[in-house]
Amino acid sequence: MVRTLLRVTGTVQGVGFRPFVYRHAVALGLVGTVRNDSEGVLIDVEGDPTGVAALERVLTESPPPLARVASVVAQPVAPDGERDDFRIVATDADGPLATAVSIDTAACDDCLAEVDDPGNRRHRYPFTNCTNCGPRYTITRRVPYDRPTTTMAGFTMCARCRAEYDDPADRRFHAQPNACPDCGPRVSWRDAQGVPGADGDDALDAAVAALASGAIVGVKGIGGFHLAVRADDEERVAELRRRKARDDKPFAVMVPDVAAADAFCLLDDRARVALTSPARPIVIVPRRGGAAIAPSVAPGSPDLGVFLPYSPLHHLLVRGVRAPLVMTSGNRSDDPIAHDDADAVARLGPLVDAFLTHDRPIHIRCDDSVVRATPRRLQVLRRSRGYAPEPLRLPGEPACAVLAVGGELKCTIAVTREHDVVAGHHLGDLEHLATYESFLQSLAHLPALYGVAPEVVAHDLHPEYLSSKLARDLDVPTVAVQHHHAHVAACMVEHERRDPVVALAFDGLGYGPDGTLWGGEVLVAGFDGFERVGRLRPVPMPGGAAAIREPWRMATVWGELATGDAMPVRGVDPARVADVRDLAGRPSTLTTTSMGRLFDAVAVLLGGRTSVSYEAQAAIELEWSARRAAPDHRADLADLADLADLVTVEDGGDGIVLDPGALVARLVAERRAGTDVAVLAAGFHEAIGRAAVRVAASTARARGIDAVVLTGGVFQNAYLTDVVERGLAAEGLQVLVHARVPPNDGGLSIGQAAIAALGT
Ligand code: ZN
Ligand code: ZN
Ligand code: FE
Repeated sequence: MVRTLLRVTGTVQGVGFRPFVYRHAVALGLVGTVRNDSEGVLIDVEGDPTGVAALERVLTESPPPLARVASVVAQPVAPDGERDDFRIVATDADGPLATAVSIDTAACDDCLAEVDDPGNRRHRYPFTNCTNCGPRYTITRRVPYDRPTTTMAGFTMCARCRAEYDDPADRRFHAQPNACPDCGPRVSWRDAQGVPGADGDDALDAAVAALASGAIVGVKGIGGFHLAVRADDEERVAELRRRKARDDKPFAVMVPDVAAADAFCLLDDRARVALTSPARPIVIVPRRGGAAIAPSVAPGSPDLGVFLPYSPLHHLLVRGVRAPLVMTSGNRSDDPIAHDDADAVARLGPLVDAFLTHDRPIHIRCDDSVVRATPRRLQVLRRSRGYAPEPLRLPGEPACAVLAVGGELKCTIAVTREHDVVAGHHLGDLEHLATYESFLQSLAHLPALYGVAPEVVAHDLHPEYLSSKLARDLDVPTVAVQHHHAHVAACMVEHERRDPVVALAFDGLGYGPDGTLWGGEVLVAGFDGFERVGRLRPVPMPGGAAAIREPWRMATVWGELATGDAMPVRGVDPARVADVRDLAGRPSTLTTTSMGRLFDAVAVLLGGRTSVSYEAQAAIELEWSARRAAPDHRADLADLADLADLVTVEDGGDGIVLDPGALVARLVAERRAGTDVAVLAAGFHEAIGRAAVRVAASTARARGIDAVVLTGGVFQNAYLTDVVERGLAAEGLQVLVHARVPPNDGGLSIGQAAIAALGT
């Protein structure tokens, strides 16, 4: 007989870990106890050595689906032979709990089987869940995670649910959101003014019938409301766009299963894995030609964002309607997603024909996550429901407890906790008042959930970001982190990289220490600092933020710089073009090295849209255009191979300058000569990518660095990423690309936290 204390750390509470240990221990004939405590789970087990070893193995090799085991440490102690069974010991109510809060997880197969079984007491019950699935983060008001601290507090379990909850052998042992039709939340059908109609099963039937006939319905889910409408009805989808005041930004489509997704999209294995993963993100994949999806769902896009149902409610709806459903965030324009019933009626009432709501409160609003499936990887573009607040391991020992407040757009916040950094859900753009309020709520909530008292607040260097201003108002020492340095650090964290890297940080805009707007940067960076070794040629950005909304402004600047001519821009009043040229010539106009703005400019010069309805739209459409060329025009591209030489890489005295002026001039000339725009778009991507490879590879060689980070919003561009990644790999360099942390500003808080925690 041996006795061992097994200390398990990671996300091991609220995920069915103790019943899992109990079942295995009993099956192995072991005795002892398992309990939660402030460090995770502690198992005190006694029995024959092979049994104890088998238990230890199963903890790391096949833990419960929602658990994330960070470590298992075994400590032998003297056997006492005093126990004769294996028990789950109640949580010590005094001690703080370690882990906290797990992520919201899609309904598991066992639960769905019950929902589909006419003989089961949970048949068609939209809130069916168990320890392996269901809502977590979105219903947790505070820790320790226990039913009274969740939004399930108001529902008293019936005798049968209670028995499941109390039985260590049951799948619902200590499943805090456990519920059934007798005791749990109920759905209700309401008109657009919020007046209740049918409830329960009848409400579901009403919603299915309304959606099938083309109604726009506000549907309350896990992290907020969606606006739902049939995705195969052009007139209705266009109507939803009109009501939501959303011009072109693609809508996501929910389909019942992978087979249905396959009918609309080209799925590879990676995309299938993402679609069916417990996080159930929106997965952006190439769409099939001729798919029966209304054009207004994703105007002009070669891709489609698809996702599968993640709550039983969604399963019942999308299968009942028998059509793909647009399920877009329940908001108008860019406001935060509605999650509270009264707020939903006020804000969404004018947009919907009716509501399908329910009486389980949502404590934390949480948007759907978005990942893009490329041939090389899955890349998270919006890290929210199903991913937040999953911790990431920091590559080092934090010097202090940090709260990081992120940037301005796509804001997230993060805290460090022991060896981890934990980022919260996607908050959105702070310039919207309602988003800012949600940001303030999160600042109070996230540190409390993790029992963190921040010793340092990290924020962006930009003095005018609302997050920076707020950070300075908190009564805690602050650290200002340069925007692109934070992007680089975020990528280093996810690759557990400690040593310095060369980084290509290409994005929209970030404030530089010199007071100009950066965004096409070549850095040598570590957590403790960075050096700007290169940059895109600085150009004026006439009109500031207006240059983002109206890419023709940057086209005017780059066009004139490149060709020496004042070029008319199709569709823009020549007087406005003249004003912008005048503005660009003034010394007071800010300059920028933004790569995103260069992509905007080239998009316009190649005939793209002159103004945008969502961030980076022109640049995104330029990538679509390049992708059209890539498979069919290899030969044409080969003819343009010399384009790559037209980006000059020269020492500007205070660092390397990438100057694409000659490239831009050639593109303009080629377009005038009638060369296919798609080929030119592809040629532009290749040329910029190869120039970036040259400068990164030579910097890496000069500095003796073996890895290059690709970060910033421009590296959401899969075409560019592919060119740069192949080029650097051919140079024998390790390429660190974002996968789990967004390359865009949604990843900033993670980088800021890492720099503040590890950089000293
Ligand atoms: Zn389940
Ligand atoms: Zn019940
Ligand atoms: Fe950025």
